Amino acid sequence: MQKRISELEKENEDLVEKLKIKDSLEFENNAYWITKEDKKEGPFCTCCWDDDKKTIRMQPNNHPAYYSCPKCENKSVKIYPERSCPPVKQFKPTHY
Ligand SMILES: [Zn+2]
Repeated sequence: MQKRISELEKENEDLVEKLKIKDSLEFENNAYWITKEDKKEGPFCTCCWDDDKKTIRMQPNNHPAYYSCPKCENKSVKIYPERSCPPVKQFKPTHY
């Protein structure tokens, strides 16, 4: 009986933890992010969270704009769209 209670306590702790994560997850640029004390963590794989309730950090994928998930091999996701086309440098004539 005591064993069962501690099992349930553990399970409850896990659920509370997941709820906390769920509350802080934000969906942006095709991925999840967690903002903690003004610091943005992520990107986290949407597939792994939606399916497994696991926060899997995505890894850069050959291109600075694209990230992919090492666990589910979620195909490249465009995380930083602004990095896909670098701003054209303004030509500033120094003299005429
Ligand atoms: Zn994944």
